[in-house]
Amino acid sequence: MAYTILRGGRVLDIAAGTAEPADILIGDDTIREIVPPGSAAPEGAIRIDATRRLLHPGLVNAHTHGHGNLAKGMGDRWTLELLLSAAPWITGNRNAEEKYLSTQLGAVEMVLKGCTACYDLSFEWPTPTTEGLRLVGQAYADVGMRAVIAPMVADRSFYEAIPGLHDALPQPLKAPVAELRLAPTDATIAAIRAALRDWSFDRDQVKPAVAPTIPHHCSDAFILGCAGLAREFGVGLHSHVGESKVQAITGIRVYGRTQTAHLDALGVLGPDFTVAHGVWLDNDDMARLGDHGASVAHNPGSNMRLGSGLADTRAMLERRVNLGIGTDGANCADNQNMYEAMRLASFVSKVQGPDWRRWLSTREAALAATEGSARALGFGGRIGRLAPGWKADIVMLDLDHPNWLPFNDPVNQLVHTEDGTAVASVMIGGRLVVDNRRVVTVDLERLRDRVAAARDRLAAANADNRRLYDALEPVVGSYCPGLARTPYHVHRYGARAE
Ligand SMILES: [Zn+2]
Repeated sequence: MAYTILRGGRVLDIAAGTAEPADILIGDDTIREIVPPGSAAPEGAIRIDATRRLLHPGLVNAHTHGHGNLAKGMGDRWTLELLLSAAPWITGNRNAEEKYLSTQLGAVEMVLKGCTACYDLSFEWPTPTTEGLRLVGQAYADVGMRAVIAPMVADRSFYEAIPGLHDALPQPLKAPVAELRLAPTDATIAAIRAALRDWSFDRDQVKPAVAPTIPHHCSDAFILGCAGLAREFGVGLHSHVGESKVQAITGIRVYGRTQTAHLDALGVLGPDFTVAHGVWLDNDDMARLGDHGASVAHNPGSNMRLGSGLADTRAMLERRVNLGIGTDGANCADNQNMYEAMRLASFVSKVQGPDWRRWLSTREAALAATEGSARALGFGGRIGRLAPGWKADIVMLDLDHPNWLPFNDPVNQLVHTEDGTAVASVMIGGRLVVDNRRVVTVDLERLRDRVAAARDRLAAANADNRRLYDALEPVVGSYCPGLARTPYHVHRYGARAE
């Protein structure tokens, strides 16, 4: 066994709220022992100096989109529905190189900002491909980051999925929108099956999942097909549920019940199921998720950026929902900063009512961004904590950085003060991926040049898609808010005005 020892740091125990001086002994990719400072190490152990470092478990991003990283900053005042309308412009026409680059760029940003694993819902049009998913997997493997990669799929376009939207489009827009149609149900299910069957990565590092993107963008047969594949191959299932009010209202119109109640009736909820967002869940929805041991990936930054609303994480925890935290894609986030996501999770909980006992504590936010997210990724009990037997995914924060001066409370400062600027080094599976603020696995100058070239090519390739978006914006931008004015009563603590 190859041994490494991290000497002289303070080891964060989130649950206990402590950060005592200790050394961490790592064998291969796993933490073997946490020992008093200066304890003897096995012969030949590599010694890493962690003096004046706070060691915390790598943050786990429960929801992102690798294809979104070339689209950061491309929009401003977008609802979720405008973002979906903009997708062909901001994420369309990707070649193989760009699929890899976009994902790698996000992975680099995440590791530099203390995140060591993510759940990536990756999109290819009109259907996922084994080669496209292999490129995405390779991007994470090359950075040295852990990832769950779920092809994000549907068998209905956005314009087919929202009742009345297609009819509301002026005649000249109907033909170009018809071209955005997705592949037939069976073709996409077959494509996912092929990718799952041929998965070549070490599943401890890069593993697959399946993401029927939004329930009503999928026929029931399609959702059942995805769930069947997830069961057959023992992988996770992830879907955007109750993200926007338009979605919640559409669920009722299409199903005659909430999206969650419908998914429950289809029999697809379970411990491997993750709801992304869950802003518009009612108490019954949350109870169903909690009873099935399912997870919610809470994306407070994206939920505010897109005006989707404020998710009630306390109500979720009360119903035993496993809570994870994510950034969402850079096409609607517009960064990949899990410290910010944790901080916003805390703040979003605190603005919802005066009863401070119901607010998310920093401890709860930090546990959600580590162990909770890890459980959603299917890495529960293996990543997200610094303890013997857990993977050596360790972030080293510089305690001489102003974020940590003075050192008052490790968990409060991790969640409310740290913003990623104190990240000094990052280890994933016992391997240093960031060493003294430098990513060691990727040539950043080369990445910069390739990204700049990709950006220029895509701007030209998607010029027509941009014009299409400009034409769609006034229609979608008034039809969907109109739909969202429909009263929708969510009975729960702090009920919002309707
Ligand atoms: Zn998403």
